[in-house]
Amino acid sequence: MPVDTDIAQLLGRLDFDPDAVRDKYRYERDKRVRVDGNEQYVEVKAEFSQYVDDPYVEPGFTREPLFDEVEVAIIGGGFGGLLMGARLREAGVKSIRLIEKAGDVGGTWYWNRYPGAMCDVESYVYLPLLEEMGYIPKHKYSFAPEIFEHSKAIARRFDLYKDALFQTGVTEIRWDEDRSRWIISSDRGDRMTARFIAMANGPLSRPKLPGIPGINEFTGHTFHTSRWDYGYTGGDSNGNLTGLAHKRVGIIGTGATAVQCIPHLGKSAEHLYVFQRTPSSVDVRNNRETDQEWARSLQPGWQQQRMDNFNILVSGGDQDVDMVSDGWTDIFRSVTGIAVKQACRHLGRRLTPQERSELMELADMRKMEQVRARAEAIVADPNVAEQLKPWYRQFCKRPCFHDEYLDTYNRPNVTLVDTNGQGVQRLTENGVVVDDQEYPLDCLIFATGFEVGTSYTRRAGYDIIGRHGQTLSEKWSGGLRTLHGLQTNGFPNCFFLGFTQTAITVSVPHALNEQAKHVRHILDEVARRGVATVEATPEGEQGWVDEIHAKARLGMKFYADCTPGYYNSEGKAGNPNGLFSGSYGEGPIKFFQILDEWRADKEFSGVNFS
Ligand code: NDP
Repeated sequence: MPVDTDIAQLLGRLDFDPDAVRDKYRYERDKRVRVDGNEQYVEVKAEFSQYVDDPYVEPGFTREPLFDEVEVAIIGGGFGGLLMGARLREAGVKSIRLIEKAGDVGGTWYWNRYPGAMCDVESYVYLPLLEEMGYIPKHKYSFAPEIFEHSKAIARRFDLYKDALFQTGVTEIRWDEDRSRWIISSDRGDRMTARFIAMANGPLSRPKLPGIPGINEFTGHTFHTSRWDYGYTGGDSNGNLTGLAHKRVGIIGTGATAVQCIPHLGKSAEHLYVFQRTPSSVDVRNNRETDQEWARSLQPGWQQQRMDNFNILVSGGDQDVDMVSDGWTDIFRSVTGIAVKQACRHLGRRLTPQERSELMELADMRKMEQVRARAEAIVADPNVAEQLKPWYRQFCKRPCFHDEYLDTYNRPNVTLVDTNGQGVQRLTENGVVVDDQEYPLDCLIFATGFEVGTSYTRRAGYDIIGRHGQTLSEKWSGGLRTLHGLQTNGFPNCFFLGFTQTAITVSVPHALNEQAKHVRHILDEVARRGVATVEATPEGEQGWVDEIHAKARLGMKFYADCTPGYYNSEGKAGNPNGLFSGSYGEGPIKFFQILDEWRADKEFSGVNFS
């Protein structure tokens, strides 16, 4: 039924009933809310630890433990660690050590080698340091192997392999007050010393498994998508999984990862069963090769300009030109920026907060109706199409973009097993049970994502012991406490990169780069003053914590109403460790501006040098 309210009129004719859509969203959400929230997942340790073994290295690596000293130790060799290392090299820091669990740099792009893995943020924005590296990606959206290669190229270009330690898991980092040094212990027996430490552990780095009954009973082959077993499946990141030709394969999960690998599984498996709890919103991808003429026309400074343009648009701001012009910017322009701007123009005044929120809700529904219509248009079986329709607001879950995913369900060898929001019932020796029906399988793949919303130190896998024996796990037990997300009182010469009370960005490396530049600025000042330590003051930290709490409330209501997922701690939006709970509520543009202004005024307020 078309609607006819004042605000709706501003959007033009709407061919849906907002009340009915609202009811449906609530119904689908309520069906999925569970009391155990994050506790529904099992931690990948003890009998589950094989799920995090590294399948990409030769077994049996050994080396002598180290007891030496470096200037800066960076924990994590993903984009956070690489950007930190690059910015420090630019500042002339000679002694840098990357410490990384994996067999090489790359982080996410080291681990996630599943078939079809690619970045769904535009590569010209997403891949760091393109101008510094003199590199233009091959496609608008890069495939994982290219991003992994780019990570390695950054490490080579900035000499970050020198002194790097791979296949090394940090077990503890402890402050030595007498020497003003950090002592880093590892699972290789190391006890290294560093003057400064930078934590770049990554926000989604620890795989998680569903805590379903019988999880360890299945006797077929099984692995998590972030540890893809090509030895079993055959093929490579481009697909062609010949090992699955005579196999019944099951995959649990339909998030961003599953959306990318399911088309390849569908092509290669004898039969594929996709076990779905909540469908993703899957919009058009439209990937293409880089236009070389365009690449040749780029002028110095182009990447930062493009990153800024994208970041403004996907933060709900407005720009005269949409340089990236893709699914991401389309959502934000139609649901936030442009829709609101047009409404203001039409009314000749600003919208009230109530009108603004109503308009954004309706624009969101309109966008999601398009996504639902796409499922209906592509999937031949109307029942299956119906089950693939996402019934929630666009940003309740991560938007996905893919041009072959929905089509895969038209293959005769692919079955969607929709669990009506309840998830898989249990595993047996032979396969997966849903609705009391057993699906016998040869291989079961977990596309069940990564730990989010547990404590920082649990996800990192080690604790940090600061001044007076205080552990970081104790200090942050009631929630994160930082200055600008980067430093915390009691932990001198220690920096955090990532989403620790910083602003979340669609293109994560953009935020990491801003953070790395900020840390570099502080370390430049340490060198200039010739001091031993730099640390957030208690007042500086408290000021930022207050600011975070005051601003974080902005988005909490939205997530409280969302269907469960890792964005809202599985329906418990108040979780102090939740993805968005500690983030800066006014968004990245304002956050980067705060950092810029702080650097520009040279007062270093909230920081103590000694
Ligand atoms: P997600 O956490 O997004 O997805 C996990 C999936 O497992 C969900 O579909 C979830 O269902 C399902 N699931 C969990 N438990 C059960 C159960 N008991 N029964 C059935 N299904 C279950 O993980 P992903 O690895 O897909 O993605 C994680 C993130 O990684 C993305 O959100 C994105 O940020 C990033 N990513 C980015 C890419 C890029 O292109 N840049 C590509 C891939 C990933 P439910 O929704 O109901 O919880």
